[in-house]
Amino acid sequence: MLIGCPTEIKPQEFRVGVTPAAAREAVTHGHDVLIQSGAGVGAGFSDEDYSAVGARIATTAAEVFAEAEMVVKVKEPQAAERAMLRKGQLLFTYLHLAPDPDQTRDLLASGATCIAYETVTDARGGLPLLAPMSEVAGRLAPQMGAWSLQKANGGRGVLMGGVPGVTPAKVAVIGGGVVGTFAARVAAGMGADVTVLDRSLPRMRYLDDTFGNVFRTRYASGENTAEMVAEADMVIGAVLVPGAAAPKLVSRAQLATMKPGAVIVDVAIDQGGCFETSKATTHQDPIYEVDGVVHYCVANMPGAVARTSTIALGNATMPYMLALADKGWRTACKADAHLAAGLNVHAGQLTNAPVGEALGIEA
Ligand code: NAD
Repeated sequence: MLIGCPTEIKPQEFRVGVTPAAAREAVTHGHDVLIQSGAGVGAGFSDEDYSAVGARIATTAAEVFAEAEMVVKVKEPQAAERAMLRKGQLLFTYLHLAPDPDQTRDLLASGATCIAYETVTDARGGLPLLAPMSEVAGRLAPQMGAWSLQKANGGRGVLMGGVPGVTPAKVAVIGGGVVGTFAARVAAGMGADVTVLDRSLPRMRYLDDTFGNVFRTRYASGENTAEMVAEADMVIGAVLVPGAAAPKLVSRAQLATMKPGAVIVDVAIDQGGCFETSKATTHQDPIYEVDGVVHYCVANMPGAVARTSTIALGNATMPYMLALADKGWRTACKADAHLAAGLNVHAGQLTNAPVGEALGIEA
């Protein structure tokens, strides 16, 4: 199969859909790989890195879209890219169609078959192509929070680990899933005093069994959350209610109870955020202040570490990309119901029920 990978054109997107490692595997499996010149540069991969593993280099995205039987990307196709998709072509990328009727309309009109990373499932009920980005955002959250805590950035001027004779920062992580666990481990590793709040007792049992005294767990009742928020130097928001907007767990009134210069890192901002005062920010202008509390609310945190994120995403997508290329999408999806869960659009039909429900289109 001819696998094509264009340069991402969404603003501030530096990741690339196919890494040289994935290109090498595809070539070894007997496939042709066509990469747009410069596609890997933002993630630190040169055209030569791709040529060296047997991929061909295309000058323009138009060439990639014209030749490829399967287009592999990172972000949802932008309008100019959607116009280049054609009937029978396979698209494998993040789509996030539920809040995006314009994109849905164009993908339906294209006649292409579109498999979305974010709805591929695994045997344990997880989302294996979303998890790597949650791992990245989780590990990044205390790092960005620690930067925000610095005086020059409006923070309290508290060092995460303290020093001998000075107590460390207090960090509360709300939500102990993938993001929360990775955030708690890094914050604890930096020497902070960390508590994870969650509503799931099985999850807190798992965290306690696995991490012991590295960090504490506490049930996320309104009262406990309010107490932890008031005491914290840093609060990391990492909740997810699948298929729903993030619940607002900290009100504006509660900011008044927080320490001046305390920091909120709202990782759940891509689902609307779990603090009433959160609004999405960008890597260029990542923080703002409300009532003396510094807010960091970047919606695409993994983009800050495009190389790590690209390699992590590539590791996760590669087996699926190879299955699609080796067997063709129909046979690959018949053989793997979890991959089939990724099918969102085929030949002008919406094929994912929850996405259809969100958009009011029959699926
Ligand atoms: P997850 O499903 O692994 O974990 C979510 C956790 O939240 C679960 O343990 C759940 O029990 C808990 N939870 C749900 N409601 C709660 C409540 N009311 N109080 C306390 N805990 C509650 O999800 P995840 O992969 O860790 O993702 C967390 C959030 O981070 C999501 O909104 C996700 O979209 C977001 N995210 C953002 C970025 C970014 O760049 N900003 C990147 C990756 C993920």
